[in-house]
Amino acid sequence: MDGTGDPTLMTLVYSDDYDLHLGDHVFPSAKYRLTKEKLVAEGVVRPEDIIEPEPASDDDVALVHRRDYIRKLKTGTLSYLEILRLEVPYSPELVRAVWLAAGGSILAGRRAIEDGISANVGGGFHHAFPDHGEGFCVLHDVAIAIRRLQKDRALERAMTVDCDVHQGNGTAAIFRDDPTVFTFSIHQENNYPYPKPPSSLDINLQDGTEDDEYLAALEDGLHRSLARFKPDLIFYVAGADPYREDQLGGLRLSLDGLERRDRMVLEIARANHIPVAVTLAGGYARRLDDTVRIHATTIRVAKELADRGRPES
Ligand SMILES: [Zn+2]
Repeated sequence: MDGTGDPTLMTLVYSDDYDLHLGDHVFPSAKYRLTKEKLVAEGVVRPEDIIEPEPASDDDVALVHRRDYIRKLKTGTLSYLEILRLEVPYSPELVRAVWLAAGGSILAGRRAIEDGISANVGGGFHHAFPDHGEGFCVLHDVAIAIRRLQKDRALERAMTVDCDVHQGNGTAAIFRDDPTVFTFSIHQENNYPYPKPPSSLDINLQDGTEDDEYLAALEDGLHRSLARFKPDLIFYVAGADPYREDQLGGLRLSLDGLERRDRMVLEIARANHIPVAVTLAGGYARRLDDTVRIHATTIRVAKELADRGRPES
């Protein structure tokens, strides 16, 4: 330990209202609560380490999204086609959940800058665009958080490390012409979204890619990204859907491989003295227990690194 604060401090950001209450939908939105409960039950985090976010303000949301889209969401006036594109049913609870998730990622980003690492037990809605939502993503919580933290001068330069099985198309589009944000996405090539707007670095993986090949590509991508760009903060979009049992993914990572992935991202960030804010993103395993386990493992690995304190510089 090098005396840079309480070595066991890692704040988890979470709200019961993250649950979208979608019922029998492929998106298992009860996973947020189940992940939080598992982490508490297993003693990974204490209830007092969990803080509840405020919803993002509309002005925060407008740092990324168009005012007319925000207004349609708030007044329930999206068109039929706009709702169809979201692929989740519209409700006032959905709107509250996504505003909260955005507030949660702002808070997790802030805590990560202070403590070195933090996690939002939610968020990672990387398919949302300024003027529309798609692929279960209504608001881009990570982009909102980056822009708000930049506005507060809490950070200048941010990097997204997106390990969801689906490419981060919203992230790529939002930050395409922004030299202050580097977007790295490693994903399955033959999968939604089509087209894939270019990230700062995209790694397109073939169907059926397994642990070792995935991890070699990830390590290479992380080193290439950090050679090109030195961020003040990394947002880790830790999708659970590269898992071999995922219903919407075609990669073949094992549970162990996913844990090694988490450790690799977080260790490399730590070695480079870069704070990390974790968000959860997708996860559609045949068994909900697996999705919850993958998300909980990401946060357990983050907690293990937090417990080791910051590295000597
Ligand atoms: Zn996904």
